[in-house]
Amino acid sequence: MNGYQEAIEAYLDKHLEEFSECARKIHEFAEPSSEEYQSAALLCDLLEEKGFTVERGLKGQKTAFRAVYGNGPFRIGYMCEYDSLATLHQEDVPYPCGNGGFGHGCGHNLLGAGSAAAGLAVKELIEKYQLPATVVVYGTPAEETLEGKTVMVENGYFRDVDVCLAWHPLDHNDCGEVKFKACAAMTMTFHGVKAHACNCPENGRSALDAAELTNVGCNYLREHIDRDSYLHYSYINGGDRPNIVPDYAKLWYMVRAYTFDQMRALVERIKRVAQGACMMTDTTVEFALIGENHDSKLNFHLASLAYDCMKQIGPPSFTEEEKEYARTIAKAVGISGVEGELDEGLVVPDGTIKKDNGSSDVADVSQIVPVVNINTACYGRRTPNHSWAVTVQADKPAAYKGMNFAAKVLALMGARLATEPELYRQVKEEFDKA
Ligand SMILES: [Zn+2]
Repeated sequence: MNGYQEAIEAYLDKHLEEFSECARKIHEFAEPSSEEYQSAALLCDLLEEKGFTVERGLKGQKTAFRAVYGNGPFRIGYMCEYDSLATLHQEDVPYPCGNGGFGHGCGHNLLGAGSAAAGLAVKELIEKYQLPATVVVYGTPAEETLEGKTVMVENGYFRDVDVCLAWHPLDHNDCGEVKFKACAAMTMTFHGVKAHACNCPENGRSALDAAELTNVGCNYLREHIDRDSYLHYSYINGGDRPNIVPDYAKLWYMVRAYTFDQMRALVERIKRVAQGACMMTDTTVEFALIGENHDSKLNFHLASLAYDCMKQIGPPSFTEEEKEYARTIAKAVGISGVEGELDEGLVVPDGTIKKDNGSSDVADVSQIVPVVNINTACYGRRTPNHSWAVTVQADKPAAYKGMNFAAKVLALMGARLATEPELYRQVKEEFDKA
């Protein structure tokens, strides 16, 4: 086993600059969800050049891909993400400096390159050390809109692997006992009647009033929902000119809950609030579901294996210069002392579910195949995710160290699962029972 570990570490350390450059380019491309053309092409080229057979574009998802190497019995899956976030463009300066463009405020540039690197390290083991495995690297677009993997699952992908090993860049190193919430996204379109806002407002019926009353109602609703549930909304359209009663308004809602059933029940309550707002304003509403994600099915055997592999490899240590940079960013976002330091430790698993505040389409994959999602420290602790502070840290040497650590752990996990049948038997048994 140590032979595999040494080979993985040697390969990934040797190619660190190449994989970091790949992450750097994806950071620069900063493409929107489902439009990650350059990022997907870059990863496909990298995998193809190194011997993978690559299928570019999967059943209508132009920026999805599937890259395969080997034909051994144990099938290891990795998932690349590479989309960025609107409004999070950031110049390389230690203060917010957006221009409204897209930016990698969730570090998916690292995620994409790191998962591909893990796949390439496993390919090296298959080729040079006869690891009895097949490695499948999936390119999964549009994670930020929580739809990429969901559609891929619906289209029949991920059934070709025995396990899917995932990671995410974050502010600490943990082995994957964190559960994603179920999530739904929907729009509500309100229709009213236009009229002169001063001359004959009695003839008008305001769609904007209905939208506003819906939000007021939902803000009251918050007190009476499950404590792990969240509502978020934004206005897509709030009318046009103030001197015309708006006959059209549109809201975008996201609803999160601990379980899928709780999430669906909450969506129904929100719909009733909107219907109430329509009764008050004599308007109508149409609901359109954008998408739904499951909560994640955790696998504690995989998490425990991830922890073992994290310990075997050891989390990276950071240079004084890297630490100082993280402190500068921490200061700029109002975090002080140890709270803003780069994390060099490991979170010790205890076999219990940790509640995450986020959701991910990784959870949909976890419904059909055993999945673990580990996190590695790529930014200072408590750096707010989906913010300029992540964008600016996501193409720095510390982040590449975190990426390299994740790739090593995911590759070692793959090697161990392929060669220690008892490990996978336990993983599969837990998955089947859950
Ligand atoms: Zn993310």
